[in-house]
Amino acid sequence: MKYSKIQIKVQFKKIKNMYIRVYPPDGEVVVTAPELMTMDQIQKNLSVHKKWLSKKVLKFKSMKTLLDKQEALPEYLHVWGKHHKIVYREGQNKNSISMERSRINVYMRRGFDLEKKKKLLYDWTRRQLIEEAQVLLTKWENRIGVQVNRLQARKMKTRWGSCNIRKKKINLNTALFVLDKEALEYVLVHEMVHLIEPSHNHNFKTLMTAFLPDWKERKKLLLED
Ligand SMILES: [Zn+2]
Repeated sequence: MKYSKIQIKVQFKKIKNMYIRVYPPDGEVVVTAPELMTMDQIQKNLSVHKKWLSKKVLKFKSMKTLLDKQEALPEYLHVWGKHHKIVYREGQNKNSISMERSRINVYMRRGFDLEKKKKLLYDWTRRQLIEEAQVLLTKWENRIGVQVNRLQARKMKTRWGSCNIRKKKINLNTALFVLDKEALEYVLVHEMVHLIEPSHNHNFKTLMTAFLPDWKERKKLLLED
């Protein structure tokens, strides 16, 4: 179905309440509704979240443009939740990317094709994400009392992060770069707490609340409602 220009996938399940999910990295919207709910009711429920929904979908559009082979270079990108215009300058001596206020300057050497240009920008987002996450990691390793051996940022389809408990390795979804930093911190703490408690049980939630009392609020930043 389509809702105010947004393509939405609807699935029905044996549940009590309808919920909306926006998936990384391209902002696909999936509504999961109770089996007896009509399309009219779904539309009505969606209208309550309309503003929230279009804001979130917009944040992902630039990341989608960057990752999709069919698309041209993105003209803007969200950086930690804020809109940034991208200015490209070709024919430079070396590649470099810098930010000033709400602008991202991308300097490129001559002869870069679309694929290479996109990779340059994507790799930069990954490095920015890891740099920020590394600072948070050091802080949380002390607080939680765990040690992480490796931190990586990758393209991930349906998850925001994952944790290999045995290898103590954490993967982060590169698309976290377009969301608020509070969202990144939530995902990182979530994965780190898995090093103490592997499953999402009561103990896990108790630990999350102890370390990050507002984790439920932060979770909403991940486009789940
Ligand atoms: Zn988890």
